[in-house]
Amino acid sequence: MSLQNTLTKTVRPDGQGWLATSDSDAFFDLVMDACKLWELPVAQQSRTHLVVTSDIGEINFARADAGVAISIVSDTDANLFMLRETVAAQIDYFAPTLADCLTWDAAPDTGTMPPNFRLAKVVSLAPLGVHFWRLTVMGDDLGAFSHTGLHLRLALPERGGRAQWPVLNDRGRVRWPDKSALHVAVYTIRSFDPVSGGLVIDVFRHAGGTSSDWLEQAVPGAMVGLMGPGGGWVPDAPHLVIAGDETAIPAIARILDAMPGTTTGTALIEVAETCDYPLPDCPAGMDLHLLSRARGDTLETAMAGVDLGAADHRYVWFAAEKDRATAMRQHLRETQGVGRHESYISAYWQRG
Ligand SMILES: Cc1cc2nc3c(=O)[nH]c(=O)nc-3n(C[C@H](O)[C@H](O)[C@H](O)COP(=O)(O)OP(=O)(O)OC[C@H]3O[C@@H](n4cnc5c(N)ncnc54)[C@H](O)[C@@H]3O)c2cc1C
Repeated sequence: MSLQNTLTKTVRPDGQGWLATSDSDAFFDLVMDACKLWELPVAQQSRTHLVVTSDIGEINFARADAGVAISIVSDTDANLFMLRETVAAQIDYFAPTLADCLTWDAAPDTGTMPPNFRLAKVVSLAPLGVHFWRLTVMGDDLGAFSHTGLHLRLALPERGGRAQWPVLNDRGRVRWPDKSALHVAVYTIRSFDPVSGGLVIDVFRHAGGTSSDWLEQAVPGAMVGLMGPGGGWVPDAPHLVIAGDETAIPAIARILDAMPGTTTGTALIEVAETCDYPLPDCPAGMDLHLLSRARGDTLETAMAGVDLGAADHRYVWFAAEKDRATAMRQHLRETQGVGRHESYISAYWQRG
């Protein structure tokens, strides 16, 4: 059963918004453009009503006199807040002149930390093979990081200074501290132990890596921020093709952990030379290939020889550097006919 079917349809005041605009036609066009860009399913239920669905809830837009009523339904406070932020961020991006015209019926208090943000303490930090740091953190109320999303934003405060964290402004939006005061990067939740409360993140050590440099000098007891979870859940299909570079290894490992023993398909991992990351066992029907850039192997060449599976039985998962993810998305969509609903293709980092 999909999440949408299990959602309570009651809209809470903090999920109820209003966009004051005299041109709701143009705004509906913008919603359609945003959904096309982000490949989100949108159902135009009528000339006056749009419904956008995502893994974590649904957003309804209804035309009214002098504006558009927005109502968001989600299963947790954190997810509802994330969808609110998504609506506001898309308006900032696509229609900046309307940014100040968006209001919500209720919002968490100004100056408080966002509902999907938690502080956590570093409890251990150790090398994981030659190429990764394994960071374990603990904190109050981290249970939300065990479901609905595989990823989070890890916020690392400036060393030596007074830690500054994101807070809500008087419009209910997240106000981040200056980048020099808080460095934020996206990571995969490798595991969360509900008994000990320990949350594990594996960070790839690459040249110029701001986060890995921070971790190199961090000590147990240091405070970090966690925002999320987000980014979707583990793919679920009888036939899986999973491919990624070093930054995707923690996510691939988590997907392998969750995979039923009957799954068939291929996992491809591309590394500079050798891979000493502790990967879980694959189901018997999954082939795992470690590709070495030093030998000239690439994900793209390996993907070309892989059985992607039948259209209604497969899921294709790909994460790597931005240009490669963009090219792979185009190839899979246009040449292989792999649709959005049966794939996750994501830019995990960007060449500087
Ligand atoms: C959904 C998602 C999940 C992710 N999960 C993980 C994870 O579990 N573990 C993990 O290690 N990473 C993961 N990443 C990738 C990580 O967010 C990026 O590598 C990010 O740039 C790291 O931030 P930073 O603070 O270390 O460096 P930044 O300050 O962002 O970048 C500093 C410099 O490093 C360069 N750089 C960044 N990544 C790489 C790289 N891989 N190789 C070479 N140069 C690089 C940048 O181009 C820049 O020049 C994930 C990304 C996404 C979007």
